[in-house]
Amino acid sequence: MVSRDEDVRRTYATDVSGLELVPEGVARPADAVEVAALLAEANASRTPVTPAGGQTSTTGASITDRGILMSLRAMQRVIDIDVDARSVRVEPGVLLGELKRTCAQHDLLLAPDPTSEEECTVGGAIACNASGARSLRYGPTRNHVRALTVALADGSLVELRRPSLEKNTVGYAFAQDAVDWFIGSEGTLGVVVEAELALLPMPEHVIGLAIPFVREKEAFAFVVAARESTAVHPRCLEFFDALALSIARDTGDTSWALGAEAFVYIEEAPIRGVDPALDEWLALADRFGAITDDMRVYDGEASLREARRVRHAIPAHMNERGAARRVHGGRKVSTDWAVPYRELGRAIRRARALASEAGIAQAVIYGHAGNGHPHQNFIADDAAQLSRIERVVEATLREVIALGGTVAAEHGIGKIKRKWLPLQMTPLQLRVMRAVKQELDPAGILSPGNVL
Ligand SMILES: Cc1cc2nc3c(=O)[nH]c(=O)nc-3n(C[C@H](O)[C@H](O)[C@H](O)COP(=O)(O)OP(=O)(O)OC[C@H]3O[C@@H](n4cnc5c(N)ncnc54)[C@H](O)[C@@H]3O)c2cc1C
Repeated sequence: MVSRDEDVRRTYATDVSGLELVPEGVARPADAVEVAALLAEANASRTPVTPAGGQTSTTGASITDRGILMSLRAMQRVIDIDVDARSVRVEPGVLLGELKRTCAQHDLLLAPDPTSEEECTVGGAIACNASGARSLRYGPTRNHVRALTVALADGSLVELRRPSLEKNTVGYAFAQDAVDWFIGSEGTLGVVVEAELALLPMPEHVIGLAIPFVREKEAFAFVVAARESTAVHPRCLEFFDALALSIARDTGDTSWALGAEAFVYIEEAPIRGVDPALDEWLALADRFGAITDDMRVYDGEASLREARRVRHAIPAHMNERGAARRVHGGRKVSTDWAVPYRELGRAIRRARALASEAGIAQAVIYGHAGNGHPHQNFIADDAAQLSRIERVVEATLREVIALGGTVAAEHGIGKIKRKWLPLQMTPLQLRVMRAVKQELDPAGILSPGNVL
């Protein structure tokens, strides 16, 4: 059941964090009963178990050098789609992108859309509460989980369903809905072996617009205005700085928007029966000095996929550059902080100033501006530069917290960001989290080193 083969162990030793941790054994259960049996045995022998899906974690959450790495990839059945109830039941190892296409065949939308959706699993997306560009409209994965079956550390299987109550005053708020405990718990509280996810009607007509701006400042002002407008209906509002723009150019049209400092990508998805507000978008873009002649329009599914490919090229390019520095002790350093969306321009200016003061090359900054959530990606050439960058990131995170922000908006804490958890969580919050962990996993076997 557990492989100790060196080659197999090495296959599961890396994710996208740039760390390499070789597990002592690898288990690849085929069903929930096998997961439960493995956990019962591990709990009895105090052997650590770290669940893993697609291993696209950027925080080292899905790798370990302690005990067993439990890959859930073999559990990839779509159990049932209920078109009337708009829900789908799946095993955790199904790739999110594949599941979205299956649902789309029924004219239903599975909303969570991390950029990594073609490589990440449903279980991993639930365990990280993944979100994406379209979370501006649809919210993160948490909002779409109706029920979970979870294997607890002692090997028992529990079925949990969200209450469908609209009013409830029974018990402490955090205890009222046990489904929520496991979403975003990064494999530390239980292993998701089945999930029921809510689906939405597929929007009738979506258009994407890539809008270049002469000045970055105006791009931020445009994002705030678009978010607060009643004339347009964005389901995503994504910002790309000059460096991200140059990576985007390299994927195709190298002369696109040469006069621009930044661009904003929006998707407009009006309610059914209403046309996309193209004129309103143009008027809004004009107000903020956009280079509307260079605006790109993506209309139709194939065209939107192309926009997504360009978007994906940015983290993929940075991951490749980071991986190439691994032999020198360097890697990509990705931040995942967020601030209230009106504070984004200010936070990015401060983040850049802190890097400049430390003599660090500027990061690529892109991402979910509508949610005040950029990704600031540095490349550390070697170990010495890595620690200098980490100091800059920590200084940035302190300012982010002061602006009412978070140190990790969608990638979770994993192992890499654990040191920054106390910047945001009070000692009281940390004590409550430890008490929950102790109750659900008293022997501490689940995903040691993640989160706490
Ligand atoms: C290019 C790129 C782009 C990305 N873009 C985004 C983005 O836009 N938004 C976003 O949110 N994230 C993004 N990520 C991060 C990552 O892809 C997501 O967090 C993803 O949801 C992780 O899924 P996974 O299957 O790869 O999980 P893994 O990396 O395998 O695991 C992640 C965590 O989940 C736990 N886990 C996995 N399966 C289970 C299970 N069945 N039960 C319990 N715990 C489990 C693991 O222990 C680990 O703690 C990106 C990553 C890359 C490489």
